[in-house]
Amino acid sequence: MTGSLLFPRRCPICDEILDKGKLICDKCIRIPRRVTGERCFKCSKHLDSPYAEYCPDCEKHKKSFLRGIALYEYDSVKDSINSFKNNSRPEYAVFYADGIERHLSDIIKSFNADVLVPIPLHPSKLKKRGYNQSELLANELSKRFGLPVDAHLLERTKKTKEQKKLTGNERLKNTVGAFHMPQNGVKYNNIILVDDVYTTGATLDEASRTLISGGLKNVYFVTVAIGSGS
Ligand SMILES: [Zn+2]
Ligand SMILES: [Zn+2]
Repeated sequence: MTGSLLFPRRCPICDEILDKGKLICDKCIRIPRRVTGERCFKCSKHLDSPYAEYCPDCEKHKKSFLRGIALYEYDSVKDSINSFKNNSRPEYAVFYADGIERHLSDIIKSFNADVLVPIPLHPSKLKKRGYNQSELLANELSKRFGLPVDAHLLERTKKTKEQKKLTGNERLKNTVGAFHMPQNGVKYNNIILVDDVYTTGATLDEASRTLISGGLKNVYFVTVAIGSGS
């Protein structure tokens, strides 16, 4: 996989070939919008009310992870993430990880993680796509934060439908039982789950629930982007 991460590197927004040493072109630099202002204490989604602690979704559905952080508003990088996943643009992982390191370093370090765990793909999907985008991202973050990646802690046992095509309740049902922890007695204190996007949080919540049932305690997450709706 590393071969395709080499040059020519392309702009993660407009897909033009970049000058050497650049991760995004000058034209697109302002397009990815970072999540700013008041944020949900659980999922880090932007909050409209400065008086709320949690977003309406985290208020309503209790999440199994302790807390998580995301870099960009999903609508500003939607096409980019779609290409990252579906159009053979694994190199975009470098741009995303660079942004996460630049802007979210303090909070990620505060999680005191032992390990990064990418959200796995179902084997049939992995075969079709050729790579797991979350694992590429975890590998890039690993270099920057000096944390190991454990890509075998979780397995995806259920072939789920694409979350974006489903309604809120269907998404919750779709992910139930999606993951499995193949090993017993794993000893990690603090785990960071890594994924590309947090939409309803159903996938990350289920992955975290699986880890907790397997005896692990503190689960956090980091994603490139997060949706603003609930
Ligand atoms: Zn560009
Ligand atoms: Zn929230």
